[in-house]
Amino acid sequence: MSMQMLIGGELVESANGGRMEAIDPATEQVIGSVPAGTAQDMEKAVAAAESAQPAWAALSIDARAAYMHKVADGMDARAAEILEIEVKDTGNTIAKMEADVQKAAERIRNYAALGFEVKGITVPSTPGNLHVTVCEPYGVVGRIIPFNHPIAFAGRALAGPLITGNTVVIKPPEQSSLSAGILGEICKECLPAGVVNIVTGEGAAVGDALVRHPRVKRIAFTGSAETGMIIQRAAAEVAVKHVTLELGGKNPMIVFPDADLDKAIPAAVAGMNFAWQGQSCGSTSRLFVHDSLYDRVLEGVAERVRALRIGMPLDYDSQVGPMNNKEQLEKAVKYIALGVEEGARLVVGGKRPEGDMFAKGYWIEPAVFADVTMDMRIAKEEIFGPVMSVIRWSGVDEVIEMANATDYGLTAAIWTRDIDTAITTARRVQSGYVWINGTSRHYRGMPFGGMKNSGTGREESIDELLSYTETKAIHVLTA
Ligand code: NAP
Repeated sequence: MSMQMLIGGELVESANGGRMEAIDPATEQVIGSVPAGTAQDMEKAVAAAESAQPAWAALSIDARAAYMHKVADGMDARAAEILEIEVKDTGNTIAKMEADVQKAAERIRNYAALGFEVKGITVPSTPGNLHVTVCEPYGVVGRIIPFNHPIAFAGRALAGPLITGNTVVIKPPEQSSLSAGILGEICKECLPAGVVNIVTGEGAAVGDALVRHPRVKRIAFTGSAETGMIIQRAAAEVAVKHVTLELGGKNPMIVFPDADLDKAIPAAVAGMNFAWQGQSCGSTSRLFVHDSLYDRVLEGVAERVRALRIGMPLDYDSQVGPMNNKEQLEKAVKYIALGVEEGARLVVGGKRPEGDMFAKGYWIEPAVFADVTMDMRIAKEEIFGPVMSVIRWSGVDEVIEMANATDYGLTAAIWTRDIDTAITTARRVQSGYVWINGTSRHYRGMPFGGMKNSGTGREESIDELLSYTETKAIHVLTA
C-alpha cells in the first residue's frame, strides 16, 4: 500500500521524495508507506486551499452539501477496503471498527444537512433600524488528528469546515496515515481541486508548519494535552488565531451504593474501550466504587477483563488487539510497573500475552489495579492504554474531590438510581461530557469536549460548525 498526499487536487509525493513506513502493530511488519511531507508541501497545500476557498464559499449550501454527499458515497463504496487498512494500520479490532468507518461517512452527511442551521441573529438594538449578524467562514481551516480513530477523525475533520464555506488542510497521525491516503483519492474524485488537502508527515514538521501558517487563522486540534499546549504557544508566536483543542482525559466512573451492578459492571469494562486497548480519550480509566460494593464490583470487573479475547485485529472474534505503536506499548508497560511500585494491587493482566501469535507486535494484556489511591501517578496521569484503576470511597464529598483531582476534565460516568444524587453529582464533576447510568457512547448533536486540560471548544454539534465561522455584525440604518 503506497499512499500519496492530496494537494491542490493532485495526488503527490513529498517535496523531497521522503516516505514513512506504516507498521502493522500486530506483527511489526511493514504494510505500506506514505509521503513524509515537508514544510514546503504544507505551504503548497495552504496556498491551494486558499485559492479554492472563494469559489467554494460562493456555492450554495445545497451545492456544498451535494459535493459532501459524493465524498460520503465514495467512502461507502470503498468501506471494506478502508476498514481492512484501518484495522491493519491501527491494531483496533475489526468488529468495533466497522462502526468507525460508517461514522466517518455518516458525520459528513450529518453535517451537510446542518448547513442552514449555521445562522446569525437579529437584535432589536434600536427602533427602525435592522441589526443582524452573519456567520462568515474563516477561509482555510487546519485540522490535526490523532492515531486512535484516524478515518473517523478525518471524515469529521473535513465535514464541519466544508459545509460552513471553508476549505481545509488535514494533517493525519504519523503512526496510522494509510486510510487518509484513500480519503485523499476519494476527495480528488469528488471535490473541486484544493477544497480538501491532506498532508502526511511528522507533527513537528508539517503539523507545526500548518499551525504557524500566517494565513490559517483557524486550527482545530485533537490529540494530547502536551501537544495542545505546544500548538497554542506556536500559534501565538505568529498571529492571533482561533485554536480549539480536543485533548486527553483521566475519566472517573463513580459507582454509588444503589447502582444497578448488573449494568454498571459491564459498563465499566465497556467504558475502557479495550477494543482499541483503552486508547480512547473518553475511557473510564478511574473506577470509583463505594466501600459497600467494592469487592463485588472489583471481582465482577476482573472476571470480565480476564475473559476478554485477545487476538488478531482482523479476526471478528477478537475483543482486544495490540497497542497502536511501540511508544504507546512502552508507555503502558512503564505505568503498569509504576502502579506496582506505588503499591497498587495488580489483579488482572499487565503482561505480554503468551503464545506464538504474540511473539511479535505491541501486545499487552489489559490490566486492572485495585487499592489505587489518589496520591499515585496511575490515578492522575493519562496512560492512554488498557490500564484501569479501581479506587475505594465512602463519602460523597470525598469521591467528588477525588474525581476532580486531576488536570483533566473530559468525561465522567455516574451510576446511581437516585435522581438527586445523579444530578447533583453531574453538576459537581468537572467534566465536559457526563453520562448518568452510561459510558462511552457519543450522542448525535450533543457537544463533546473537555474542561480543564482536556481542551477548549466543543465538537460533534452545532457549536462545532459555528466555530468554523466568524460573526459579523451589520447595521442597516434607516432612522
Ligand atoms: P499527539 O501526540 O498529541 O498527536 C496528535 C497529532 O498532533 C498527530 O497528528 C501529531 O503528529 C500532531 N503533532 C505532534 N506534534 C505536533 C506539533 N508540534 N505541531 C503540530 N502537530 C503536532 O496525540 P496522539 O498520541 O496521536 O493521540 C493521543 C492523544 O489524543 C491522547 O491524549 C488522547 O486522549 C487524545 N485524544 C483526544 C480526543 C478528544 O476528542 N478529546 C480524541 C482522541 C484522542 P504525529 O503523529 O506526526 O506525531
